Amino acid sequence: MEIGTAELKAARRPLHIIEERELEIPDLTMFSPDHPPSPYRFPLPLKSGDKWGYGRLPDGSTLLAIGWLGNSVNSNGPVAEDVIDALVEAYMTKTVFSDGTAGWHDCELCPGPESWYSDGQVGPVILWRGKQLRLYGHGHHLLRHGTAIFMTPALILHYILDHGYRPPEKFLEATTAGEFLRPEDLTWEAFPPADQSPTG
Ligand SMILES: [Zn+2]
Repeated sequence: MEIGTAELKAARRPLHIIEERELEIPDLTMFSPDHPPSPYRFPLPLKSGDKWGYGRLPDGSTLLAIGWLGNSVNSNGPVAEDVIDALVEAYMTKTVFSDGTAGWHDCELCPGPESWYSDGQVGPVILWRGKQLRLYGHGHHLLRHGTAIFMTPALILHYILDHGYRPPEKFLEATTAGEFLRPEDLTWEAFPPADQSPTG
């Protein structure tokens, strides 16, 4: 996503910049209906054409957290290959939403930075079906199944393949029976005019 215009600078003003490092949300936590499709309270930045604004969930959907593990894995077990295939496909086809934060979501389960930084790049490298894929720890997927929308970090493949995490059954079903949302699936809302924000 290309960023860098004066418009975006104005658009960014309402956003808060925080560190993502220590986020932990129990699986299947249900967010309130007015919560943005982001793990944080502040709006999800979203582009429509050449304009930046906020993304909102479709009306009538329920947002649920999956895979915001923090520093422990509470659910271990095998995960079916077709689930991994679906998650890899989702990652490769860029159904990852940026959450508007400045930081990386480092993995708190990895033993040290050597797991995270290799070949001059940041993010863990997973191995699946003989191929390597580097995951960037920034952003999340939104996976819809019926009225449920599961919000899961872009790192979930790393948690499953490298840390033995097994997400709840409802989520596993949704990876193959549901659909990963794209920006155009969200409701777009313009930022308030920049001149309403205090300057100084
Ligand atoms: Zn890790």
